[in-house]
Amino acid sequence: MTDRLRGKVAVITAAGQGIGRAIAEAFVTEGAQVIATDIDPAKLAGIGAARETMLDVLSGPAIAALAREVDANFGGADILVNCAGFVHHGTALDCTDEDWDFSFDLNVKSMHRMIRAFLPAMLKKQRGSIINMSSAASSIAGLPNRYVYGGSKAAVIGLTKAVAADFIRQGIRCNAICPGTIESPSLEGRIETLAAKTGQPLDAVRQNFIDRQPMGRLGTPQEVAALAVFLASDESSYITGQPHLVDGGLAL
Ligand code: NAD
Repeated sequence: MTDRLRGKVAVITAAGQGIGRAIAEAFVTEGAQVIATDIDPAKLAGIGAARETMLDVLSGPAIAALAREVDANFGGADILVNCAGFVHHGTALDCTDEDWDFSFDLNVKSMHRMIRAFLPAMLKKQRGSIINMSSAASSIAGLPNRYVYGGSKAAVIGLTKAVAADFIRQGIRCNAICPGTIESPSLEGRIETLAAKTGQPLDAVRQNFIDRQPMGRLGTPQEVAALAVFLASDESSYITGQPHLVDGGLAL
């Protein structure tokens, strides 16, 4: 299928790799004008976006500047995908105050910043789809060693529902995607870190991640992107305020 997002302008954070990149590529394929952003702009090459630009979602002023640019040059965004996030590995006993603050800043407050910046133009147009990347590890399921990560991703679901409720009569929909374990560069990094920390071979650590998936395999970024296309498009026009699992049955 193509053209499911024709005529729409989509802003995506953390579009350089993994799930964010797959979403950016799928949106381009479906005809959207994509503004692809990442803290590392070198990773954005080859997406085919209308605009590729560096954006650190920890910076309020940078986000406000991008929103002004998108309003001026693209007439505001119709779709906002908040994908940036960080996985802290550990329990409550491993999580310092600094770890806590960093996780909530990057995983939750960044979405607050983006929504405040991009929502006004959506409200002017009386249409918009906001998609926030949560996780199966959230208020949906408790996973070991995902203490502050799970807490922050649960907050994403709460924030999503609040935005959906506040603007439901003004053409704005807001949904969360909750992936299970998805193949991505950051997952590879976590596998390497865990292997080094526990002294286990890489293959054994990787197999542990696979074994916790009921389907017996990891998900692909493209499988998450397929859900994002649906939630961004008018096909999902009666769906708002919900967490949507794409987890291979992890939270069964
Ligand atoms: P990833 O972690 O491999 O890539 C993250 C991207 O974010 C990188 O391109 C990086 O440059 C960028 N980034 C880092 N800090 C940033 C900042 N301050 N501002 C802007 N960009 C920044 O990607 P992933 O593993 O596909 O994860 C993407 C999202 O999906 C995250 O929110 C993650 O929590 C969530 N998620 C991932 C999985 C998984 O198994 N991979 C599962 C559930 C949820």
